[in-house]
Amino acid sequence: MNEVLVGSFLSAFATGLGALPILFLKKVSHRWRDILLAFAAGIMMTAAMMSLVPEALNTGSLIQLTVGMILGIVTLTVLEKNIPHIHVEDTSVQIEIDQKAMLIIAAITLHNIPEGLSVGVSYSGSEEDMGNLVALAIGLQNAPEGFIVALFLATQNVPRVLALLIATLTGAIEIVTSIIGYSLTRYFTDLVPYGLAFAAGAMLFIIYKELIPESHGDGNERVATYSFIIGILSMISLIQYFG
Ligand SMILES: [Zn+2]
Repeated sequence: MNEVLVGSFLSAFATGLGALPILFLKKVSHRWRDILLAFAAGIMMTAAMMSLVPEALNTGSLIQLTVGMILGIVTLTVLEKNIPHIHVEDTSVQIEIDQKAMLIIAAITLHNIPEGLSVGVSYSGSEEDMGNLVALAIGLQNAPEGFIVALFLATQNVPRVLALLIATLTGAIEIVTSIIGYSLTRYFTDLVPYGLAFAAGAMLFIIYKELIPESHGDGNERVATYSFIIGILSMISLIQYFG
């Protein structure tokens, strides 16, 4: 039980750690915001494709992966449709970002539920290092998620400390679901590949639907593209080094 507590805490805490830089970024210019979003998008995409997807295939089958991923996409589509959108052209930018921030926070919190479950279940398995491996994979991709939540909140004038706190809380939910997964493994084991694929699908949805478009259209496309690639390379290096 100790190991799962430490593992899930560290993994969940990575969300808060990733959000930490928000305290030190003075004023995030639009250009830097685009660069940071693209960077986080690159990290998240690599995490989804190189950690979550292979892990889902390891613990399950292609069918389970596909079903889990589609479930993630459908859930976010429903979520997005039910978060009120304000599409008035001349409305202030602030309101528009407000809706986006809500979607991002809801999406990241929601997809952290199956991520935590997967960590917990992995710790109870017979394979020794499986728990630590999954906790690490989940932890690595939690960091940019925490940063994105904090960044979206900070850019609409939420106090930085509060933004950090909220971002940390979206990750903390993983500790709860991880303990549930660990304690009720026999009910959840079969769900692990679905959970990992669900998380990957939700991330890909956010990346393609929000982060990439959000970092384009304001003249920073090229530098955002470079930043995206650097994010991908950074994450590959981390996975290569730690994984
Ligand atoms: Zn995630």
